[in-house]
Amino acid sequence: MKILLSEEEIPKSWFNITPYLPKPLEPPLDPQTKEPVSPDKLLAIFPEPIVEQEVSEKEWIEVPEDVLRVYSLWRPTPLHRAKNLEEYLQTPAKIFYKNESVSPPGSHKPNTAVAQAYYNKVSGVKRLTTETGAGQWGSSLAFATQFFNLECEVYMVRVSYNQKPFRRILMETWGAKVIPSPSPYTRAGRKFYEENPEHPGSLGIAISEAIEKALTSSDTKYSLGSVLNHVLLHQTVIGLEAKKQMEKAGYYPDYVVGAVGGGSNFAGLAFPFLKDKLTGEKPHLEVIAVEPEACPTLTKGEYRYDYGDTVGLTPLIKMHTLGHEFVPPPIHAGGLRYHGDAPLLCLLYHEGYISASAYKQRAVFEAAITFARTEGIVPAPESAHAIRKAIDIALECKERGEEKVILFNLSGHGYFDLSAYDMYLKGELPDT
Ligand SMILES: *Cc1c(COP(=O)(O)O)cnc(C)c1O
Repeated sequence: MKILLSEEEIPKSWFNITPYLPKPLEPPLDPQTKEPVSPDKLLAIFPEPIVEQEVSEKEWIEVPEDVLRVYSLWRPTPLHRAKNLEEYLQTPAKIFYKNESVSPPGSHKPNTAVAQAYYNKVSGVKRLTTETGAGQWGSSLAFATQFFNLECEVYMVRVSYNQKPFRRILMETWGAKVIPSPSPYTRAGRKFYEENPEHPGSLGIAISEAIEKALTSSDTKYSLGSVLNHVLLHQTVIGLEAKKQMEKAGYYPDYVVGAVGGGSNFAGLAFPFLKDKLTGEKPHLEVIAVEPEACPTLTKGEYRYDYGDTVGLTPLIKMHTLGHEFVPPPIHAGGLRYHGDAPLLCLLYHEGYISASAYKQRAVFEAAITFARTEGIVPAPESAHAIRKAIDIALECKERGEEKVILFNLSGHGYFDLSAYDMYLKGELPDT
């Protein structure tokens, strides 16, 4: 069963949770002076409208007409009632999921990529740079930049460039220039490249290369796919649509569940609902972030200032962190391997408005297979973390005979992750 909205029902404003925070967000700090970073520094890598949104206290921020037009290629996305999964589990719980896998790049990431491309275009920028690991973010930005005639340059970690050609081909199909990192084209990359032209690279090096390119060219800016306030803001289209759809279905969720890498798809679904908990209207709503046990940022990390990247180039950010030098084991949910999480999400977790669970890889793939065999969609390994939790809550409801309502985010599909499914099906997937 699907609950659909018409094109006119795409939200016309994004929701900013900042005015509802129980405490003010602590500002990013300059690592040298330990003083708050001045917006000037951010303007070297981001255009002005993005920097404004990053620090905005306004509850509603209008979605530009040109962004709505691109959104309408795949939005509003469907909300599904997972009846087959409910029947398979024999649970009295009602399970709903928001299907962000229907976007052309296959995940929620274009919701912010399109907005960022637009604001760069109207600010006179000619080229966007970014880094990508497995290619989810890079392909979303490549997709988005086309609609605004921007060039897109993606520094892709060399091991992924060599081992995972399909997302690279997707990025190139959408007109992006994909550069294996470390490359000889930046100072940051050259150091490693000259030592070893086949250097496997890391996300940290790729970030350094993309930022350096933006800092050293006047017509180029940098774009980030998660963690920052403006990214979470853009993703709230997910939750705003889902709220209307749940209302149409005649339910309000008892549980809202999402997988967390940097926190953008989770916050995008959860924040519009979380507002009702923060205002006291829905005090019993449970909002649950799910992460891999191999990278347990919320469940095991410390709440403190840390660098946003591995190398130590970015401002210090107050967040739950495993330490910027933490290198998680190579699990297949590549999008969930970040050492920190979005500051907005961390503050709300720290203040007790959000809870968190962590799962091992095999339990996650078991849930992914159950979902694929009942609901038909092969989920991204990242999204399968949310499915695992939703199934576990539904099974608890069965034990207690409770008809609770569960809503989770299907952040993307897994059709580019089939080699991980192959390993799981052959019994070769390790529980790192
Ligand atoms: C990138 C990605 C994630 C993790 O990023 P968040 O910012 O935490 O949402 C989750 N699911 C999918 C499908 C992704 O591509």
